[in-house]
Amino acid sequence: MKICEIMKDIVYWQRLLRMGGYYSDSIDGIRGPLTVAAEERWQADASAIAEEVGRFDSRSEDAIATLLPVTQRVARRWLKLAVPLAQSAGLEVKIICGTRSYAEQNRLFAKTPRVTRARGGQSMHNFGLAFDFGLFRGRAYLEDSAQYVRLGRLCLQMPEVTWGGSWKSLVDTPHIQLNLYAGTSAARTAFEQ
Ligand SMILES: [Zn+2]
Repeated sequence: MKICEIMKDIVYWQRLLRMGGYYSDSIDGIRGPLTVAAEERWQADASAIAEEVGRFDSRSEDAIATLLPVTQRVARRWLKLAVPLAQSAGLEVKIICGTRSYAEQNRLFAKTPRVTRARGGQSMHNFGLAFDFGLFRGRAYLEDSAQYVRLGRLCLQMPEVTWGGSWKSLVDTPHIQLNLYAGTSAARTAFEQ
């Protein structure tokens, strides 16, 4: 999803702003002055982080823009390490997925063949805390490559994240999430409070 789509679901967007620490008013679905002020603070932080850590290709930028700024920083730091590694293998790495609203997650859940086991509120992607990367050779997306593990392993140098490639079951090599909450249900409780 793009940030402009996320912002249209105002209740969801207010929750995301609150999750990031930018909004503490009521979740009322109305884009009033307090919501706008929160958006401006979010944007200011996001720009400062991009300035500090670096900017990337437009696909990655679109995905990063949907993440909580605290996650944006981590995504940029990871990408900064990953880009030269991918290049050394003749590939391009991009962040291809960021935040998904509950409505979008439920839409994906309903798809056949199955693309996700998670409904809205059951994925770290629903709280602005997770992103997925993809590898490309030229314009071609690579579904499978040993480089996914090589790049994912960069997370092992970053104690603030968990890499889906290290999970024992449902290994999810392109997935990276922030360790701010003990797990999905703790994050969900904070998001829906
Ligand atoms: Zn993921």
